[in-house]
Amino acid sequence: MKRSRNPQAESNVVLDRLHYFESRQDALLKIVRELVEIESPSDDKSCTDRIAAILAQRFAQLGGHPHLHSAEEYGDHLQIDFHGARNGKPVLLLGHFDTVYPLGTLSAMPCRVDNGRLYGPGVLDMKAGIALMLSAIEALQTGHGRLPRPVTVFLVSDEEVGSCSSRKITEELARKSAGVLVLEPAAGVRGAVKTARKGVGEYTLTVTGVAAHAGLDPGKGHSAIVELARQIPAISKLNDLKHGISVNPGVIRGGTRTNVVAAEAIAEIDVRIKSAKQATPLDRKLRGLKPIDKRCKLSVEGGINRLPMERNAGVIALYHKAQAIAKPIDWKLEEAAVGGGSDGNFTAALGIPTLDGLGALGEGAHALHEHIIISELPRRAFLLAGLIESA
Ligand SMILES: [Zn+2]
Repeated sequence: MKRSRNPQAESNVVLDRLHYFESRQDALLKIVRELVEIESPSDDKSCTDRIAAILAQRFAQLGGHPHLHSAEEYGDHLQIDFHGARNGKPVLLLGHFDTVYPLGTLSAMPCRVDNGRLYGPGVLDMKAGIALMLSAIEALQTGHGRLPRPVTVFLVSDEEVGSCSSRKITEELARKSAGVLVLEPAAGVRGAVKTARKGVGEYTLTVTGVAAHAGLDPGKGHSAIVELARQIPAISKLNDLKHGISVNPGVIRGGTRTNVVAAEAIAEIDVRIKSAKQATPLDRKLRGLKPIDKRCKLSVEGGINRLPMERNAGVIALYHKAQAIAKPIDWKLEEAAVGGGSDGNFTAALGIPTLDGLGALGEGAHALHEHIIISELPRRAFLLAGLIESA
């Protein structure tokens, strides 16, 4: 946006930009649709590689320089670099093109418009976010001739399965960037940006007991199932919701047959923390669980995968910039703290200013009714464009 001393002229420039995005709403919607209709489940490498190649082409058409980071287990990750009119650190636009939906979901859950909403697998989380990146970059180039500053786009293939192979690259790119804008869905029906996210961990507790015939030798057995059942209340006691710690034994399994005293039982535990300093004490408590039946053995594996995105000074500064961009169009941009993690947790934990939830507004991520609100797309693109300029 050109700087102007005249407030009237400045507000005209702002409104022109909003109108530009409003006039491009159908084009933006078309891109979202196209992306949703290319299925890309995390666990299907040929699918995610295919959408990466299509996206590489789209960003290249806008003048970006695509580079694929090959990955073995899941799909390749896509980095696109754009030069800017001025030098300096790039802003990093972060997202993922994998979805939680298995291949073939589209036939049961087709991409469709209904009552101002676009439905489809992965539309909110986060194909619309990728379309917003394309739209904002195109708009800035139209306005400035080229991007006002260098921009790096990084789209990963494995976010929904823990970002194992992309994490290092995300962190490397973030370290070189002035700030990170994460295009995950906005929070709530008012479209708040996310300034804090909980840290996420996963643990597995394996109980090893002593098997025996339940009829012939019941006294010789030491049931792993009974022991696990006794451990569950101890695990549950680690919840401290007041301080943002939640511990959920979400899956249990064990035993083989009713007439066998179970030799093994397992609990899979989801853990959420609000601040990084809660990670070690909680980890110690989980690993410190003691068997009540001394003939049973406990072993705990896992750990915290994503540290929390804490609302630090860098995050707050970015949020204030976003508010200032939204204000002239009478948009009171709110902030939210959420329980789910994203790749923004990695970049914020490094101390790089990070703002999340800049993607589309909608509901039902990972669910049958997943959708976005179409009429909100223009101002989300407007906000992103402004942040690319000033982040
Ligand atoms: Zn997501």
